[in-house]
Amino acid sequence: MIGGGHANVQVLRKLCMNEYRGLNVILISEGYEAIYSGMTPGYIKKFYSLEDISIDLQRLCFNAGATFIKDKVIKLDSKNQIIYLNDNPSISYNVLSINSGSISNNQTISIDEESNIISAKPISSFVSKLKEIDDLIKKSSKKKISIIGGGVAAFELSFALYRRYDENISIDIISDQILAEKNLNISTIKRLKKIAKNLGINLISNQVITINKSEIALDNDDKIQSDCVLLSTGASLPDWLEKSDLEKTENFIAINHQLQSLNHKNIFVTGDAATIKNYIKPKSGVMAVRQGEVLKKNLFLFLLKNPLKKFKPQNNWLYLIGTHKNSAVLNYFNFSFSGNWCWQLKKIIDLNFMRKFSFSEQNDMNKKIYNLNNFKDDTPKMYCQGCGSKVSKNTLINFLSNQNNNKELSDSTEIKFEQSTVLQTIDHIKLFKSINPYDFGIISYLHSQNDILSAGGSVHSLSVSIGVPFSENLVESFYLEYFMRGIQIEASKDDAYLAAGHSYQTEEPAVTITMNGSIKQKSKKYSANEGNLIYLSKPLGTGYLLAAYFQNSQLLSISDFEKLIRYLKTSNDSAAKSGFSHGSQLMTDVSGFGLASHLGDICQSSNLSAQINLKNEILINNKLEILKNYKSSGYKNNHLSSFDTVEIKENHPLIKIIFDPQTNGPLLMAIDKEKKNEFEKEFIKNCHTQPILIGEFIKQKEKLIYFE
Ligand SMILES: Cc1cc2nc3c(=O)[nH]c(=O)nc-3n(C[C@H](O)[C@H](O)[C@H](O)COP(=O)(O)OP(=O)(O)OC[C@H]3O[C@@H](n4cnc5c(N)ncnc54)[C@H](O)[C@@H]3O)c2cc1C
Repeated sequence: MIGGGHANVQVLRKLCMNEYRGLNVILISEGYEAIYSGMTPGYIKKFYSLEDISIDLQRLCFNAGATFIKDKVIKLDSKNQIIYLNDNPSISYNVLSINSGSISNNQTISIDEESNIISAKPISSFVSKLKEIDDLIKKSSKKKISIIGGGVAAFELSFALYRRYDENISIDIISDQILAEKNLNISTIKRLKKIAKNLGINLISNQVITINKSEIALDNDDKIQSDCVLLSTGASLPDWLEKSDLEKTENFIAINHQLQSLNHKNIFVTGDAATIKNYIKPKSGVMAVRQGEVLKKNLFLFLLKNPLKKFKPQNNWLYLIGTHKNSAVLNYFNFSFSGNWCWQLKKIIDLNFMRKFSFSEQNDMNKKIYNLNNFKDDTPKMYCQGCGSKVSKNTLINFLSNQNNNKELSDSTEIKFEQSTVLQTIDHIKLFKSINPYDFGIISYLHSQNDILSAGGSVHSLSVSIGVPFSENLVESFYLEYFMRGIQIEASKDDAYLAAGHSYQTEEPAVTITMNGSIKQKSKKYSANEGNLIYLSKPLGTGYLLAAYFQNSQLLSISDFEKLIRYLKTSNDSAAKSGFSHGSQLMTDVSGFGLASHLGDICQSSNLSAQINLKNEILINNKLEILKNYKSSGYKNNHLSSFDTVEIKENHPLIKIIFDPQTNGPLLMAIDKEKKNEFEKEFIKNCHTQPILIGEFIKQKEKLIYFE
């Protein structure tokens, strides 16, 4: 699925209640959130928050049993059925559902590169650029915005912006076609124009010819100055779809009433990007939502080889256009009303739609199970669980044919070490449900790399074992390729050699990495000295935050999750270099056993204790409610094994973090007090963030660690 648009999200919603065995669903969308267009003007007015108008695509995929890949599609090769992405490896598909919206149409206007232009479409990018408009308006003395385009969206946008800037702004709406939508009745047009007039919004009925910096030239030679120009001109296709070989009609992807591309029946296209041949309708979020209701049936009917349903676009539909603070205009056939009740109706409709995408805190969705014809229910049982559980030879050969080493599938590989002693470590982590396996490859590499870094080494070579889900062909290749590419991208940064690999099919996809390291620095657990400062290279919290995610916690927002993934993908390599170059002889990584255990081990080996000052900065996420309410499955054992070795007040608000298991957690470094300033300076230079000073080693006392 490409794009978390209004139709695709409904397909995913269906998958939250129905499971199609044998089907592997991937959603690729540019952001973690899908913006609901109907509530966007309310967001601009500051009536709704960003969370209110956003669908959390990662969470939706998690509940739908789909994989979410946050990336931008840059090319579609529909002949070979391959999607090319900006940051991730390409993906092959059997069936595709495109619902990626549109961009603002600027084909008739000549636009200077330096112009301050912001497009209203795609709506997600407009929302992310609102801050830019805020800054422009704040700085300016004129406080003027020009909106190019004269449709309902331009009017609604102008009313919303007028509210946003507390009526302290002047707005032009410029178009040679003001409120020309076919379904708007005369009364509605009059009402909207009157509201605009009362608010002092200028309606300029001219065509825009050029935009130069902040000057707009019109077809009557008039020039208009503005701080910011917004393009709210109709929709057009983004470049990658324009260049695809999908048949077009009226400059959009031509589809039939079953929502399929006319020349590729395995490609469904909905929303702004699609036009039903000989059936042109205005593009709107409402239309995309309606198409979603048919798409969510047709995709599965197609997979089950059953006849498809027909989408019948309405000739007329309800418009609810937000105007004043708590008011809207309703337009339906020849009816036109305005007032608070219209706004209340709009609110009810919008909130009802969004409610479908909020999940209560539950894991088991009790899904109805279906089997796709060409896949058999007993797939896992058919597979040999011994050596025969490997991925197929073809998949392996295909993957290896693009690699430089071990093309011939040799039995084992020679590794040359300069030193007679090497570091070696092994780690195994299970794929987090719905997470991009490429990201997971990166995370699993970094998780293993920590063991080598903390022992004073650098990664020399590695062997991997990849567990892909029970699957065939494309799915098997997707997981193998994505896991491996993630691992390889990090290995290449270390100049590390991938020596050997193994693959297998499993119900619990996972990555196991054995890493060899060359020793570069001395780092021993017994080398802490009294008075040494204790630093963490990054904050803690991956264990309970992932637990909150797996339990659909409403406390974990989209941006919280994004931040968590960013930390999970942050390497400790530069942190280790900063520590060692300032004489640190002791590092360890905080991983599965948690801070109390890993620090406790060091205290024990060095015959010291540690005095730690726990502050909120030790947390990836400073919402204490999440820490209070969630814990990872490893927490209990960590607590049991370390609790007696530490002193901490039972009601300490951060008590749980010291037992929280970490995936690719921070390095814990001991630094000489005299090197404090130099170390911190270099750390900030190398890592672009402050190291976290948590305390110091003290003379040995009864307990290993004293937490304040
Ligand atoms: C200011 C404004 C207000 C509007 N108000 C309303 C309204 O009240 N009611 C209404 O019905 N319509 C409204 N519209 C129109 C509406 O925004 C669009 O018609 C609607 O969003 C189109 O929906 P869609 O499902 O096709 O795609 P979108 O909602 O645009 O979703 C597309 C998704 O695909 C993702 N995506 C895009 N390109 C790529 C790529 N290359 N790779 C990966 N992912 C990609 C995007 O990030 C996005 O998540 C408004 C438009 C504007 C500009």
